[in-house]
Amino acid sequence: MDTKILDWHSQAKTCKLDGRAFIDGRRLAAIDGKTFDCVSPIDAKILTQVSRCQTADVDLAVKVARTAFNDGRWSRQSPAERKRVLQKWAEKILAAREELALLETLDMGKPIKWSLSVDVPAAARCIQWYAEALDKIYDEIAPTAHNALALIQREAMGVVGCIVPWNYPMIMSAWKLGPALASGNSVVLKPSEKSPLTAMRLAELGLEAGLPSGVLNVVPGFGQEAGEALALHMDVDAIGFTGSTRVGRKMLEYSGQSNLKRVFNELGGKSANIIFADFEDLDRAAKTAAGSMFFNQGESCNAPSRLLVQEEIADAFIEKVASQAPQHAPGDPLDVNTIMGALVDESQLRTVMSYIEAGNAQGAKCIVGGTQARIESGGFYVNPTIFDRVNNDMKIAREEIFGPVLSVIRFKTEEQAIAMANDSSYGLQAGVWSSNINRAHRVARALKVGTVHVNQYDDDDITVPFGGYKQSGNGRDKSLHAFEKYTELKTTWLRIEAA
Ligand code: NAD
Repeated sequence: MDTKILDWHSQAKTCKLDGRAFIDGRRLAAIDGKTFDCVSPIDAKILTQVSRCQTADVDLAVKVARTAFNDGRWSRQSPAERKRVLQKWAEKILAAREELALLETLDMGKPIKWSLSVDVPAAARCIQWYAEALDKIYDEIAPTAHNALALIQREAMGVVGCIVPWNYPMIMSAWKLGPALASGNSVVLKPSEKSPLTAMRLAELGLEAGLPSGVLNVVPGFGQEAGEALALHMDVDAIGFTGSTRVGRKMLEYSGQSNLKRVFNELGGKSANIIFADFEDLDRAAKTAAGSMFFNQGESCNAPSRLLVQEEIADAFIEKVASQAPQHAPGDPLDVNTIMGALVDESQLRTVMSYIEAGNAQGAKCIVGGTQARIESGGFYVNPTIFDRVNNDMKIAREEIFGPVLSVIRFKTEEQAIAMANDSSYGLQAGVWSSNINRAHRVARALKVGTVHVNQYDDDDITVPFGGYKQSGNGRDKSLHAFEKYTELKTTWLRIEAA
């Protein structure tokens, strides 16, 4: 990896910012010429104007995507050719690592350290992995009677709408685009209005890599405008959505109101991280409890935001977690040493501060943070915050805060821990820390979540499915299972006549 040290502030002054949509292989203004301000959460300054796409723009993007799908310029390319193009795209993403990382940091507020070392490489690896996977998947033949041949095949759906959030703009886009494009679909991508810039740049790099025009289109804009138009569109076959449970519910309604398009929802979480007194390395558990919580400013769907600690070690353990907090103090996102940056915008700052008020009002004890930081910058920063003495019925234990706020809940028995962990409308992830292998397996089996982390919370790989139970969604991103979302199952019966 290139290790040269850049002055990111000077780079920021000269970097190219283009907020126009990307449709049919070209940058375009919205049809009615409307734009919206793209504001950097680092200092609240306007970065650029972004096309405010509406129904007419979405109609155009879907039409172009449908034409591309029907004429087979991508959908009927050989797997070897699609693989070649997607691999080249991944290489181009890596080659543009600094540019993309800077755009992501300016637009979304995460530290440049992580944009460079996590977001760009993960997005590129995702595209590369689906490129490599696409020509290794065989279809099936059913064990039917001797005079028949029944083929079971997966085929591309057609036009897929992808609607993504702002917390990991490139990674969330890549998790959809990788499997959707690898299986031959055309895509219309709607990035979040809070962090739209990298989506259009990724699409441009795709075109340069050989993705035919019209196959990947990007329509930036607001949820209730571009997002709703895409999800209600009669000619969109499926929606891959990542975002809040509130909007995920709307996606299902839009499907019902339009063409019953397939909807796959990757939604919110309120993950429990359960620490048993028998775990032998409580220092590591405490470091991870804080690190995983405060990573990405706490704006992660799988953040372990409910820390369940067994009573007999609670005081000592909470002290260890609290002692980690200063290392996560927010800093300038463009400083390479910063590990926690700015919240995405002022409204998210207000939301997080209102949850802190609710925690105080309901009687939880704020032992760390609870305040804004770096106010002089003009940007939107909150100190890492820990509430002790939370009970599972409090607002800060039930609702997703999506900021650096950890709720600590004490428990006595294993049964109590399982019951509390499962007493949530969400079911995305959970952590279990125990040196007793039977207990670790018992608890992991009892938890109603898509992913259980045992004695760690950070492991992650594109090879492993990601998604949740209950109101955390349906379907899975990542791994070969993601192909299930972007393909239909086709069966073909053939009669074999006797000689
Ligand atoms: P959000 O639901 O507000 O918005 C997500 C996307 O939907 C954005 O592009 C937005 O413009 C669009 N949208 C909003 N309202 C819409 C509407 N009425 N019709 C159509 N589109 C609409 O979510 P957010 O605030 O951007 O992201 C944070 C949420 O995403 C959190 O709840 C987080 O847990 C979740 N998330 C989940 C995962 C996962 O894999 N499970 C990953 C990342 C984030």
